[in-house]
Amino acid sequence: MNKQLPYRQIHLDFHTPELGAPIADGFDAEAFADTLVKAGVDSITLFAKDHHGHAFYDTDAAYHHPDLHVDLLSEQVDAVHRVGIRAPIYISVGFDEFIGSTHPEWFQRNDQGEVLQGQKKTVGPLDAGFKQLCLNSAYAAYLEDQIREVIDRFSGRLDGLFFDIVRQSPCYCNTCMTKMTEAGIDATDPAQVQAYADEVTTRFENEVSELVRSLVPDCPIFYNDGSVNPTIRKTLHTNSHLEIEALASTLFGYADFPATMRYAKNLGMDYVGMTSRFHFGWADFGSYKNPAALEYDSFLILAHGAQLSIGDQLYPSGQLQKHVYDAIGQVFNQIKPLERYLDGAKPLTDMAILYPDRSPEERIPAALAGAVAMLEEAHQSFDVVDLEMDWSRYKLVVLPDAVTTTPELVAKVNDFTTAGGKIVSSFYAGFADGQFAFANFPVDYIKQSPYETNYWIRNGEDFEQVLYRSGPYTTLRPGAESLATIYEPWFNRTYQHFYSHLQAPIHTRTNYPAIAMNQSFVYFAQPIFTLYQATTVRNYRVAVMDAIRAILHDDEMIQTNLPSTADVLINEQAAEQRYVLHLLHYVQQRRSKLIEVIEDTLPLVDIDFSLKLPKKVTRIERVSDHKEIPFTIVDGRVNFTLDRHVGHDMFVLDTE
Ligand SMILES: [Zn+2]
Repeated sequence: MNKQLPYRQIHLDFHTPELGAPIADGFDAEAFADTLVKAGVDSITLFAKDHHGHAFYDTDAAYHHPDLHVDLLSEQVDAVHRVGIRAPIYISVGFDEFIGSTHPEWFQRNDQGEVLQGQKKTVGPLDAGFKQLCLNSAYAAYLEDQIREVIDRFSGRLDGLFFDIVRQSPCYCNTCMTKMTEAGIDATDPAQVQAYADEVTTRFENEVSELVRSLVPDCPIFYNDGSVNPTIRKTLHTNSHLEIEALASTLFGYADFPATMRYAKNLGMDYVGMTSRFHFGWADFGSYKNPAALEYDSFLILAHGAQLSIGDQLYPSGQLQKHVYDAIGQVFNQIKPLERYLDGAKPLTDMAILYPDRSPEERIPAALAGAVAMLEEAHQSFDVVDLEMDWSRYKLVVLPDAVTTTPELVAKVNDFTTAGGKIVSSFYAGFADGQFAFANFPVDYIKQSPYETNYWIRNGEDFEQVLYRSGPYTTLRPGAESLATIYEPWFNRTYQHFYSHLQAPIHTRTNYPAIAMNQSFVYFAQPIFTLYQATTVRNYRVAVMDAIRAILHDDEMIQTNLPSTADVLINEQAAEQRYVLHLLHYVQQRRSKLIEVIEDTLPLVDIDFSLKLPKKVTRIERVSDHKEIPFTIVDGRVNFTLDRHVGHDMFVLDTE
């Protein structure tokens, strides 16, 4: 593994078109470095070549920016090195407007011949926007010459390479059509074309990493395609670490980053979380993220055990803006004294969610987003896992809604439950050939509900709850119990027969369980996690958490009276023999049409924690004021109360 990545990074975009006037004419190496030092920056990713295809270094292999008359990248790198700041170098891979306009045959194209911008999104001749180049075309050789050249020109001062937009989408350009035919691919089958595109990406990353590592063996490398999900397994080895875009202030929203990070952190690599200083996403010039939002993004990234990178874009003058770096410094300079509580921290978790099926267009599957939201709002300590990861440290694993049944899944689940692990599954997870495939499952399948919506009445509740999508009708197996019963509506809503504005009310009790439990499984018949992502019905989350507590006999790691708006994460610093609990409270609101916003930090009062931890706690200290927090240990649980909490804080729990 590389030496630890720096905590306080800037990702300095510089996508700059031709302007017809000198660029970087205001660049002052000393002022540049001085601004970064004052803001507490310890690493800055700088541009060799941007999405416009313009290079900012002395090049023979790329197209030099026509308006640039100083050796900008070289001067930037030397300036920051003089003050001890690292400077990884950025190269745009997927977008290169200059070479694309010269070689339009190198663009990725969909099956209509239209130029692609993303997996399916196209860019027409009249659209403003970048176009994706095909990594299967001669463009790859053009790019590899640039990579070789950057390594050569920055020999002895290269701190890493960041390759951006590395994503071959299903491509039907002339080259791909010819090569697919040669490879025996049926181009009319989207699945075969997708698999071929994935192979092209894998081959490209393998070749580039081999090249880089043959020249600079310990060079940090990262290939960005905008997200990290289980498809990265094929190319994980080509990266030295992961950088995860956490741009909650874009259309990603606040649900995206935690789900991605909780998966990425188990891939065995160092990882960076990346937010930006803009109100929305990248290059939103003249806009500023609210200070509380920048704090939340930053501290949440650190609480997840990642290093932090804040995105900015350099102005054409080559000058950094004081206002922006004052705001960034406000966060970075708070982080410096906290780093000793972050070094080597590993998440301490007792539950996991299996990453469900994902279509290539989806950033985060809805079922995953719903399951992550539920467990976070209930302050559970959990990871997101795939089938290759070790499940043995978890008490419970969730299989949310859409999980394709494979022999590997069935074997993994059976081994896990045999060893005493508990499973929460839902809908058709684990269903194959007309029946549920897991050993000791609590129900047998009968048929799909004939109704689009159903109701449940949970044991102990005296009201019905609508279920906006139905699932299978099942019958209990011996030893299983029902925690909720399915009820049917009067009828399905059709054009011929409908009831008021929405679904028809409750009518008939069935004998089918909506929630079934035995010693190893809790089963929800409806796609409860997808429904929660779509509707946020509180009763769904309460039902899932009641079932989890029941099957775990109230033994979950974290119990607290915190409101659903708070975040809690627990990490272990094994070398320091301590746990570090992060508590965050920043409330997101959807005040505008486009994004969720955070403006204020709202104080919390009278917070109770009860923690079940593997090691015995001997002392608890709040990091912000080094105040010792009194606690008791009852039945193996550490109990303590906080009078008041604002924003982010950490609590150090020393152990024996
Ligand atoms: Zn192609």
